[in-house]
Amino acid sequence: MPRDFLAGCSDRYDVIVIGGGLAGLTSANVLGRAGYRVLLLEQHYKLGGLATWFRRPKKHIFDISLHGFPYGMIKSCRRYWNEDIAARIVQLKNIRFDNPMFSLTTTFNREDFTKLLTTRFGIERPRVEAFFDTARNMNFYDDQQMTTRELFDRFFPGREDVVRLLMEPITYANGSTLEDPALTYGIVFSNFMSKGVFIYEGGTDDLVARMHAELRQNGVDCRIRAAVDRIEVGRQGVEAVIANRRRIGCRAVVSNANLRNTIFQLVGEDKFDRRFVDEAQAVRLNNSSTQVYIGLKEGVEIDEQTGDLLFSSTAPVFRTDLLLSRDITSRTFSFYYPRTRPDDPVRRYAIVSSTNARYEDWADLSEEEYVASKNDLIETTLDALAKYVPNIRDMVDHVEAATPRTFQHYTHHQLGASFGTKFEGLAVSRALPEQIPGLYHAGSVGIIMSGWLGAINYGVIVANDVDQWLMRSSTSAPAPVPQLASRPTTS
Ligand SMILES: Cc1cc2nc3c(=O)[nH]c(=O)nc-3n(C[C@H](O)[C@H](O)[C@H](O)COP(=O)(O)OP(=O)(O)OC[C@H]3O[C@@H](n4cnc5c(N)ncnc54)[C@H](O)[C@@H]3O)c2cc1C
Repeated sequence: MPRDFLAGCSDRYDVIVIGGGLAGLTSANVLGRAGYRVLLLEQHYKLGGLATWFRRPKKHIFDISLHGFPYGMIKSCRRYWNEDIAARIVQLKNIRFDNPMFSLTTTFNREDFTKLLTTRFGIERPRVEAFFDTARNMNFYDDQQMTTRELFDRFFPGREDVVRLLMEPITYANGSTLEDPALTYGIVFSNFMSKGVFIYEGGTDDLVARMHAELRQNGVDCRIRAAVDRIEVGRQGVEAVIANRRRIGCRAVVSNANLRNTIFQLVGEDKFDRRFVDEAQAVRLNNSSTQVYIGLKEGVEIDEQTGDLLFSSTAPVFRTDLLLSRDITSRTFSFYYPRTRPDDPVRRYAIVSSTNARYEDWADLSEEEYVASKNDLIETTLDALAKYVPNIRDMVDHVEAATPRTFQHYTHHQLGASFGTKFEGLAVSRALPEQIPGLYHAGSVGIIMSGWLGAINYGVIVANDVDQWLMRSSTSAPAPVPQLASRPTTS
């Protein structure tokens, strides 16, 4: 008999959360802490979604998306998770750029960037200050027509080197491009500039284990290997989900699955207005990624001056199509020193190379072509890395690659999207409960609500919405519900 991963589940909950990515986990935690009966269903064999890790023989461990996030994570983790988690967030101080236009090291905050822009790039200070202030004051209600390219043209016309410095890391951080609304750039850039780039000390495995413990403490029933096939909708709104062939009733659903999957596969377009369906059809997915995971031999060390995050490129100019091309010119290297996992007795070093990529470039390859392309990706990455870590080939103990197909396989994101949807996805995600009472979506959308911090904060925003809906829709006298913390801002 196959194991029943839903054994012991109740037949009914207040809220069912579909997906254990950071947004789903955070929604579940906030609602569980508020006293609701919450069930979280994750199709994969572990929690975390894209915030994940994997192990290989000889005690190698690799993080997939632990490369850097803004300082705001400390506040969000303290408020919506716990102090223990927040206390493990530490700054990465060596952020390097190396491309044909410039090579430099920075702490990646406003103070250091102001110094770089005025002294090294020769921009007058008032212009730099005005740019930072404009980016910092951007919010959702701003003009959404201006593109990031137009924003740069306004402040730094003709300065492709400045555009590269300001844009390359953000493209890496949330997949946004010069053609996207400036708002998607301004909010995320300002988040980073407030204090720099941060990381979770202990690794993703430790973070997710602590989150799971906190969820259990708040009474959330978390189930892995529990794939939701359908969300049942009745005349009054959501009624139940079908997972592993079992029907489980609920008053509200928070879907952390990809927005398009939620609408078109889990619910079905016949349940929505025609106009809404058209808008949902028009939502573009963000790009995907390739990664190369490089584990070093035991005892081998790398000088920490090599950097924590290294944005390397051989492309003469910064352009979106070059960043996505199969002919890779830009790679971001994340260096994991033993301090990433200070409690790990095996003091291993690892390097992960990440590159933005298009799903379609990998989707239709035959098995033979796919294997050959992955090998090519590994070999060219090691060649590129040799510039910064000479003799890297002698140091490597384990190396393997992931592609857009890998990301789609593990998270069910259409096209292996690394950062959910483009900007228009946010309005569609927010409008779901107007279409179907009790149906919510919390997950990477709109570029801003993606990445670790965006996903966590969106999870909180949606948990607040669900709380209000459950209180309003309660037929029997509800037990007093603890007040949820105030809404987080994305900046
Ligand atoms: C290569 C890479 C590098 C990245 N680097 C960074 C970085 O350095 N910093 C940063 O801030 N962000 C980074 N990100 C982005 C960040 O990881 C994501 O934006 C964030 O983790 C997404 O969280 P989420 O909750 O939106 O969704 P996800 O993590 O995608 O989780 C969705 C979950 O839903 C589950 N699910 C889907 N369908 C079903 C179903 N039908 N039933 C049950 N479960 C289901 C999936 O299995 C998954 O666990 C990176 C992403 C990638 C791919």
